[in-house]
Amino acid sequence: MKGPDRLREFVCAIAQRVEAGREEADMLAFGKSCMAKLIEDDGWLPAECAKPHPVYYQQHLLYADPLDRFSVVSFVWGPGQRTPIHNHTVWGIIGMLRGAEIAQPFERMVDGTMRAAGEPHVLQPGEIECVSPRIGDIHRVSNAHADQVSISIHLYGGNIGKLTRCVFDDQTGEEKAFVSGYSNAMTPNLWFKPASAA
Ligand code: FE
Repeated sequence: MKGPDRLREFVCAIAQRVEAGREEADMLAFGKSCMAKLIEDDGWLPAECAKPHPVYYQQHLLYADPLDRFSVVSFVWGPGQRTPIHNHTVWGIIGMLRGAEIAQPFERMVDGTMRAAGEPHVLQPGEIECVSPRIGDIHRVSNAHADQVSISIHLYGGNIGKLTRCVFDDQTGEEKAFVSGYSNAMTPNLWFKPASAA
């Protein structure tokens, strides 16, 4: 399956599942199987959604459910780029498409500071990990490569660019509310097929 068809099939499968029910454990299990299929091939992501920025990691919206029940985003990490420590407030499934990233989970201590919770996870292409307030929602993600672009595809149980969530100060643990938005104004056109391709 080529180009946007692979993404469209993913979006349709998730849309049908959220229509049937939105129980988190089911969405994580079903979403992971769909994500595995989506990222087993690296040829479908439109070039404009794979573009890095020299300074900022990019969050290109691939699809947002009109009822804000889920969203799909390509995260593009330039060499050495990383997020602050942050949370999500909804479940999320992260699938590695290209390159590699390091996810370090954090937990809050009684004095309010943040502490690394366990070893960092290194995600290689085809690998998947999940976050949610129930299973662990606070982490920092970094490009594992200092000299190449890495890309992961994220599925969230809400419109992630629109949700108010938090970043946490490395030293003090102080939290600051933020809304991430998206880096792009354009999303891939999943719905138009030229007559010749029908
Ligand atoms: Fe995250």
